[in-house]
Amino acid sequence: MIVMKFGGSSLAGAGRIRNVGEIVQGRIKYKPVLVLSAMGDTTDYLLEAAAGALNKGFVTIEKIEELYLSAISELALGAPLQREIKNLIWELGSLLTGISLTRELTGRTRDCLLSFGERMSVRIVAAYLRTLKLNARPIDAWDGGFLSDSTFGQAELRRESWVRISSFLPTLIAEGVLPVITGFIAKDENGNITTLGRGGSDLSATVIAAACKAGEVQIWKDVDGILTADPAVVKDARPVDTVTYEEAAELAYFGAQVLHPRAMQPCMKTKTPVLVKNSYNPAAPGTRIEAGPVKNAPRIRAITSKKNITLVDIVSTRMLGQPGFLAGVFSEFSKNGISIDMVATSEVSVSLTLDGEKDLTPVMRELSEYAGVEVKTGKAIVTIIGDVRRSSEILHEAFGICKKTGIQVQMVSHGASKVNTSFIVNDDEAPSLVKELHRFFFDEMAGKKKPAPKDSPSKGGSALDPKKKEGR
Ligand code: ASP
Ligand code: MG
Repeated sequence: MIVMKFGGSSLAGAGRIRNVGEIVQGRIKYKPVLVLSAMGDTTDYLLEAAAGALNKGFVTIEKIEELYLSAISELALGAPLQREIKNLIWELGSLLTGISLTRELTGRTRDCLLSFGERMSVRIVAAYLRTLKLNARPIDAWDGGFLSDSTFGQAELRRESWVRISSFLPTLIAEGVLPVITGFIAKDENGNITTLGRGGSDLSATVIAAACKAGEVQIWKDVDGILTADPAVVKDARPVDTVTYEEAAELAYFGAQVLHPRAMQPCMKTKTPVLVKNSYNPAAPGTRIEAGPVKNAPRIRAITSKKNITLVDIVSTRMLGQPGFLAGVFSEFSKNGISIDMVATSEVSVSLTLDGEKDLTPVMRELSEYAGVEVKTGKAIVTIIGDVRRSSEILHEAFGICKKTGIQVQMVSHGASKVNTSFIVNDDEAPSLVKELHRFFFDEMAGKKKPAPKDSPSKGGSALDPKKKEGR
């Protein structure tokens, strides 16, 4: 069995769905379970619609109606399915009307609203796959075993989910069914719909794969895999062959928008390989994510950046030799529900970073009793993901580049995760630093190196991939 997850851009209309049909047909012998996102940008549209109903009191669902109903008619999926989807759209409209009348939107209602995209998506794709003579069955995540807590917007799956999923899906497959299940959503114990966080269908897919001991998870996107940098910043960013779970998690967390940051956890436990593939270019090998160490790996895998970071500098002579000083600082942040990302300390100071701009008034009040505190917003984290066993040379070279470009590094964090080195710089300096680092580590260094032997074992790609007649 394998798990194939298709993201919104792979399902953005009738043409894309036909393409998914071809990809699935070519891999049917591996007994796939499909995990789907909502079509195209549905989730963003739903959020817009919710905001419109809440703030302006009007209801618009035209974009969504158009996206789903035109796919049904272009794929000629028939009247019963059309009725089913129209019913769901009617329900969605009623929910939005409710929001517009009460001018109230709770986390619970928002999650219910967001679930409509995925629920319509699986019904349409399964119906299309049946026209290809595949025995596809649409499944809502809760019927497939997904049970979560009630943290709306960011729900955690409950442990029981694993047993439920692992008993339900393999049974269906044994009966010759092609399950097509919604990603991103679940239900809590009271039967309320929940969501797993934006991009959460990656996590749904890896949970299914780990629970059912699948041979592989394929995450189908619209890029050729995990890239060495954000292509919007570095034009010639290229796909990485292979990365470890740890590296992939760091990449996701530090700004590479390819995977849900938590999605690696389930497969790490079971060592299930994850393959990131491009549905617009299925012949490309993609990026393989696996347990390390990766043989013949290059020193650097990728360079990412993440904007809108706040840097907090805390200086106090009270810190000298004081047991518990740092614990006290951290607990001020945790009391106020603020999570800290990076930390660097010296004998008398500690610098830390926070994601986004937070209300620090209560923290400042406490800390300034015994320390000087300075808060600097508008920072970025530039992260080099690579082999820390070679960190001295990487740091030396990276600092050389900062010096050459005249960029002042304001904080460095290195080592803890064993795969990343991060620098804090000003927001507006991050793109040029990423470009320069990329040029140095991927172009100049590559130029100096001998070409790799043709049958290098670190090649990407799936062991299961039918290399045959794929093309665009
Ligand atoms: N549709 C959801 C989102 O856009 C979940 C996903 O695509 O993974 O965030
Ligand atoms: Mg999406």
